[in-house]
Parts: sequence; C-alpha cells; structure tokens
Amino acid sequence: MMTRRRLLAATVTALLAAAGAGCGDQASGVGADDRLAVVTAFYPLEFLGRRIGGDAVTVTQLTKPGAEPHDVELNPRQVAAISDAGLVVYLAGFQPAVDEAVAQEARDRAFDAGSAVELLNAAADDHEHVPGEPEHAEEGAKDPHVWLDPARYATIAGKFAERLGSADPDRAADYTARAATLRGELTALDTEYATALKTCARREIVTSHTAFHYLAERYGLTEVGITGISPESEPSPQRLAQVAEQARATGTTTIFFETLVSPKVAETIAREVGAGTAVLDPLEGITEPGADYFTVMRGNLKALTTALGCRS
Ligand SMILES: [Zn+2]
Repeated sequence: MMTRRRLLAATVTALLAAAGAGCGDQASGVGADDRLAVVTAFYPLEFLGRRIGGDAVTVTQLTKPGAEPHDVELNPRQVAAISDAGLVVYLAGFQPAVDEAVAQEARDRAFDAGSAVELLNAAADDHEHVPGEPEHAEEGAKDPHVWLDPARYATIAGKFAERLGSADPDRAADYTARAATLRGELTALDTEYATALKTCARREIVTSHTAFHYLAERYGLTEVGITGISPESEPSPQRLAQVAEQARATGTTTIFFETLVSPKVAETIAREVGAGTAVLDPLEGITEPGADYFTVMRGNLKALTTALGCRS
C-alpha cells in the first residue's frame, strides 16, 4: 500500500501520514468502530449506501452537497478515504477524477454501479452533430444517468448489496434484506411513473442537459437535451435554434432546467418559443434539506405530468 501512495503528490503523503494514526484496520476497510467504510462517488450512490448499509457502514460521499458531480475534483483527504475504504462505489465514465483514483487506490475494492445493468449509448438519438458544436460524447461512450430509471436503479441496489456482503460477510443477510425493501419501494415508484405517464397530450421533454434518456426510454418519452451529456458545455446558436424549432413543432409548453446548473439557457429557449420553465431534477445532488431520491423523483413526476398534459 505504501508503494502506491508514494506515487501521489507529497501533500497527499503528508496528509495520509497525519490521518494514519488512529485509523482502524485499513486492510479490510473496517473502521475502529467495526463499521465497514464505504466511499460513494455522488448522491444516488450515497443514497444506496445509506439505505442498504444502514448503521453497519460509514458512508463518505465524494461530491459535496449542492456541487455538480460531472467534473468533481478530489482533494488529498478524499483520495486517502478511497485508499482506506472497504468498498468504493462509483460509476465508471461519469467522473474522470474518481475513475483515476479508483484505478490507483482501490481497484480490488471498487464496485462500478454501471457494470450491474445495461447502459445506453451517450449519443442521444435526437442530438445530431451540428457543425461548429463540440462533440459531447466520445465514440462508444455510455450515458451515465442510469439512476433516473427506477428499474435499473433497483438492479444496481441488488448488486450493491452483494458487494457489501462480500466485503462484510457477517452482515450479508442484513444488506440483502435492506436491499429487498428498497427494491420494493423502487418497483412501486416505477409503477407510479408508468401509470401517470401512460396517457399524455405530449411525450417530448426539452431538458437543459441530456440526463433523462433512461427515464425517457423507460416511460416512452422523447428527450431533447439542450447541452448534451455534460451540463457545463455551452450550446451553439445553431443548437439553440434547432431545439427551439423542435419545441415549437411538438407544442412544448415547458422547458425544463435543473437545480445545480444555471437556468439561463432554458429561459432563453422558453422565451423564444413562448413556453414556461420548470425544474426537472437529474438527482446529481440534493439541494433541499430533507429531500431524498424518492421525494425528488415524485417531484419530477408531478412536473412531467403537468408539462405533458397527462390524464390520471
Ligand atoms: Zn449529468
């Protein structure tokens, strides 16, 4: 373990040395209080960690609340947490800094949530390449926003519990039981979505970044993402014109923006086509105290049924 650490910057080594005293059994990732140390990369994985791990684990979250996770950067303390973890849960291809730290520090103790399910390609069908616009996704890249499909998320929960059970066999049955409860709740949510979105006046959703492809695929909607797979990319005037045209053609009444990114672009298009705006939260972080995966997903469903004119 020391050899790998020497590859890191001197500041990291210093911090690790400072933090080293008082740590538990680092080889097994079990802390001094006998709880398994789980490190999660961003909110939906943290939520799974807390629900499935319960009080048998400590959960350290790498993306700060209210921060946009795509381009997260890790500080030395976070790299140390990855290095000492019993299990690191991340989504390969979503956060390059986390991918790199996992490869260097925790290759044998990492669970890639994306490996549990079939991932969709990053290039959305509706997003043709416009000359002069940067490519958002490399060839063959996968769309990471898999947690927005409750069915796939439930499958990930089951695999997550299995991995926790291998890291901490004494409590494997508890992890399995908690995952089963959570999966039941996710199945109920999935049914709510399918029922509420069955009969709607419109089925196209215009969103600020292409985060809702899994949700759209699951419930038969079509997503028109303004900025592509990453929220920080700046859409070209051509792309804005193209989206406005699609919004007009489909009679869109609502342009969706999200909580962690500026609503400016969505507002521009809404003005252009005479539509309103509303929040559709990609759940990349929690912004309201007391909110969780389920409250945000149900808020999203309400926003969708209103915008799409669904009959319940
Ligand atoms: Zn995203």
